[in-house]
This record gives sequence, C-alpha cells and structure tokens, in this order.
Amino acid sequence: MVLDVSSIREDFPIFRRYPDLVYLDNAATTHKPRVVIEAIRNFYENFNANIHRGLYDLSQKATEIYEDAHEVVAKFINAYSWEEVIFTRNSTESLNLLAYSIGLNYLQPGDEIVISIAEHHSNMLPWMRIAELRNASIRIVRVDENGEMDYRELENIVNEKTKVVSITHVSNVLGVINDVKKIASIAHRVGAIVVVDGAQSVPHIPIDVKALDIDFLVFSGHKMLGPMGIGVLWGRKDILMDMDPPFYGGDMVKSVDIAIRDSNIVKKNIVLNDLPWKFEPGTANVADAVGLVEAIRYLIRIDLNNIDLHEKELARYTIKRLEEYNEKITILGSKDIAKKSGIISFVLQGLDPQVLAYMLSTKNIAIRAGFHCAQPLHRYLGLNKGSDRISFYIYNDYSDIDRFVDAIDWILKELGI
Ligand code: PMP
Repeated sequence: MVLDVSSIREDFPIFRRYPDLVYLDNAATTHKPRVVIEAIRNFYENFNANIHRGLYDLSQKATEIYEDAHEVVAKFINAYSWEEVIFTRNSTESLNLLAYSIGLNYLQPGDEIVISIAEHHSNMLPWMRIAELRNASIRIVRVDENGEMDYRELENIVNEKTKVVSITHVSNVLGVINDVKKIASIAHRVGAIVVVDGAQSVPHIPIDVKALDIDFLVFSGHKMLGPMGIGVLWGRKDILMDMDPPFYGGDMVKSVDIAIRDSNIVKKNIVLNDLPWKFEPGTANVADAVGLVEAIRYLIRIDLNNIDLHEKELARYTIKRLEEYNEKITILGSKDIAKKSGIISFVLQGLDPQVLAYMLSTKNIAIRAGFHCAQPLHRYLGLNKGSDRISFYIYNDYSDIDRFVDAIDWILKELGI
C-alpha cells in the first residue's frame, strides 16, 4: 500500500475505542486524528476570546490565530490571497451564501444557471430557490451511462444568458471526477461564473484553484479530518469585492451611521468591512478553524497525491472483488479508476439498500444507504429506492474491503439471493 495504514490508524482515537469497526462512510464524514481534537481543546484552554473586538492580549492572539487559518487554507488550494477565503459552517452554507450573493448582485430575469443532474441537493436547491426569486431559470446537464458529464450537452446549453455554471468536482454518488478545467473554459467563453462543489474532491485529490481556472470553490472541514461546523467558500477577490453580502450584522461593517427623525431612518451610511470579513458576519468559529488547520497539516504530511493513489488502489481492489458477484451487484457509473475517486455506489439486485446497510451494521461495517442527498440523480438512473455507498479514506485498507465483501457473501447466502 502507498500509505502506512496501521500507523495512521494509531492517530485516530475512534479506532482505539472501536477496534473492530470497518468504517466505509467517509463521504458522509471522516474521523478526526488526535492532533485535530487536541488543537480545538488547546484553543479553548489557552486562547479563548472573541476576535477583532478586544485590545487585550487574548483577543489579539485569537485574532492572529484566526487570520492565520485563512492563510493556511489559501495556500492549501493555491488561492491568490488569504482574503479570498471565507469560513462558513459547511459546503451547504457556502453554496447558499454564494447563490444569494450572486442572485442579489448579478441575476436578472431570464438569466440561466447551469448545474448537472449529478449534483448533491446542496448544489441544486439553493440555485433553484434563487432562480425562483429572481425569475431566472435552471438548465440541467445530464451524465452518460458511465456517470460522466455530457460535455457536448454542456456546450449546447451554455449560452449568452448563462450567468453561473455550478458543478460538483467529484460526484458523491458515482465518484466520477469531472473535468473542471474543461467546464470552466466552456463557461468562461460566455463570461459565466464558475462554481465548483469540492466537498468530495478537496479531501482526496490535490486542488489548485489557479490551475483549474475556476471562480469559486466550496468544501467542508468535517469531510477532510477536520471538525464539524467549519466549511470554506473560496472566491476570486475581484468578484468578492464587487458583491454585496447576503448576511448582515456585527464584524462585517467598518461603520454604521444613521440619522433619525420622528423615529424614522432618514439617512444611512454603512461602510462594509474588507475581505473576507464582509462575508463573515457574527462571532467567528475560531476553534474549528484551528482544528481545520491541523487537519490540513496532517493531509499535507501524508500528501494528497498519496491519498489519491491509496484510494484508487482500494477502489480497484473493491471493484475486482465485487465483480465476483456481477450478476447480483451493479456498480453505478464508471469502473475506470483513472476517472474515479474512492466512492463506490452499487445496488444488490432484489434487496432494499437500507436492508443491506442494516445487515452490514450487525457485523460492525458502516456504509450508507439511500439517496445520498442526490434524489434527482437516483431517479434519473431509475433507482427509486436509492443505492448503497462505500467510500474510503486514509485509514482504510484491504482488510476492510475483505470484511465488507465477506459480509456481502454472508448476506447473499442468508437471504438466498
Ligand atoms: N456537496 C457534495 C458533493 C457532498 O458530498 C456534500 C456532503 N454529502 C455536500 C455538498 C454538503 O456538505 P455539508 O453537509 O458538509 O454541507
């Protein structure tokens, strides 16, 4: 194996607590290494204070720590500047923030937003809502039988009315890696803004926003060893500077000046704060930003290239082992490892996906069943009960897959399938 899994597992307290656990639900969330848990605790024990508002030492130190966290994230994705990094709660909040900002600032009636049928609800519903509010419309690109985006259809759909193209980098169901560079070049030809949902790519493959030539990227800390409750919205500085934020409150303004007559506001002058603060209203989640920084450092030590290779090895082995059952198990989307990350969804003929996941859980094997927040994709694929999904990370090895496949074998025999 590319990675030394047994020494990596030592870093994760959860596996000490549950040594028998086969955890194959990493696309939902990942476990946390000790360094991340300790960094959060260290912040609260030694540095806790609200940022930006205090002249005292602790507040200044907390401010410094929080600003540095923006810098670490910026370097990790090769952003142009730390001011382009906005902390949110998760990818969902980042996409909503962005949809509302773009909607309020740029969308006109008749404009179009392009997404794909393979989007997670988080990269579909916010755009549908803002389109409704602004009398704009949504155009949907389909995927082919391998789950790969139909780039020809994308070229046909994108036109001078297209204002946004928002596409997932890696499908959370099919594991297919989209050619984001190609998508960006098609979208930029008509001047559309390119948004990439990196929730399933940033934790698993090296990302360089400059090389991809995209305008926005979102991702979640909890899917990359970091804490729950912190996510990222990265955006190009020029666009962020030009946009008004959708959320207002403390810390996102430099000054608020109002004149009142007869209880009415008769004059107001609100000067918004600099980037990134104008998009981060209210008290910041400093502790989880610190946790995310440790998670990023951990991933950098292992190297994202190695993580990608490791997951590809596991995916190749799983596909090979599941092929032993190819009359009974259908893997969704491409089996071409070069175009895939470590997510494999499948259906076992004649068995409700929930029943399979439940039976696996009795053997201490954690997988996910259902629609994986991608109902339109499942219905498009004719899967009205959803699918089962396994997804890998750095602490999985061949023995996890053997335990999983052996348990599938047991289920087939038990149920006489
Ligand atoms: N997009 C994709 C592709 C995802 O897989 C997920 C999480 N399943 C999300 C968005 C939403 O992430 P979060 O729940 O952390 O906001």
